[in-house]
Amino acid sequence: AKALGGSRIEHFALHQRHELGRRMALESHLRRALERGELYLQYQPKIDLRRGTLAGFEALLRWQHPEYGIVSPDEFIPIAEETGLIVPIGEWIVGTAIRQMAAWREEGLPEVPVAVNLSARQFLQGDVVATIEHLLQGAGLGADALELELTESVSMADPERSLAIMHQLKKLGVTLSIDDFGTGYSSFSYLKRLPIDKLKIDKSFIHDMVHSADSRAIVGAIVAMAHRLNLRVVAEGVELAAQAGALRDSGCDQAQGFLYARPLDAFDAGLYLAVRPER
Ligand code: C2E
Ligand code: CA
Ligand code: CA
Ligand code: CA
Repeated sequence: AKALGGSRIEHFALHQRHELGRRMALESHLRRALERGELYLQYQPKIDLRRGTLAGFEALLRWQHPEYGIVSPDEFIPIAEETGLIVPIGEWIVGTAIRQMAAWREEGLPEVPVAVNLSARQFLQGDVVATIEHLLQGAGLGADALELELTESVSMADPERSLAIMHQLKKLGVTLSIDDFGTGYSSFSYLKRLPIDKLKIDKSFIHDMVHSADSRAIVGAIVAMAHRLNLRVVAEGVELAAQAGALRDSGCDQAQGFLYARPLDAFDAGLYLAVRPER
């Protein structure tokens, strides 16, 4: 038998086994999450920084499991990606967001675009373009109602194929946005070749803006350069009025974050739409 207390290695192995156990359990539960109705979307408002009005929503996926509680998308999206479950789940996400917009329109609420996150595998597998076109048609919505947020990993995985898909989506009339901008390796000259409409500056830069002149300079430079390339700029993770002020000064177009609203359940997002707060 081993000495009391065990070795670091044993601890490590135990920890790994525990992690692996959770991962395997999550994976098998995720396979049934859709049919069991455990997935739902929340909608986080995006604010037009100049007008102070609601500019749109970002749809964010949630998983409420009966035992595990709320599982973070940062934990289960990678599992969904690796297992390919992201394809059916992703279709459900896009369909749900589109049906929600149609429902709001039925209620006579103002129409604002909803942005959906598309992960690399979802983007490159399946037939995203036909699926999206079909879903929009089914709901009687124009393509300008839908925005897609793509990370740089999408175009890194298969540059040629992703470029072709982006062009098809663009032709359809969907707004394309690069998410988490600044955390990857894309240069502006590379971006210029993508048929995108928007950049979303990663929240790490926004967070650092308050105490770092360098971060403020970087954000200012990103906004200026993006505007030169005819791209709109969104800042995510805006928590403080000081950040919003600095972003407004830099000319940033839209902001999203806890300062304005947390991600809201569909019902509350509908109320938010009805009130359409001006700030
Ligand atoms: P993301 O696309 O960068 O989403 C922004 C994240 O920042 C969300 O976390 C949001 O709740 C959070 N957030 C919003 N405002 C603030 C703020 O003021 N401060 C801070 N600290 N955080 C803020 P969430 O919902 O946990 O999502 C995490 C990531 O999971 C997303 O990052 C995205 O990569 C992925 N994800 C979420 N929903 C979907 C989805 O429907 N499809 C795909 N493929 N990925 C998704
Ligand atoms: Ca996003
Ligand atoms: Ca982001
Ligand atoms: Ca992210």
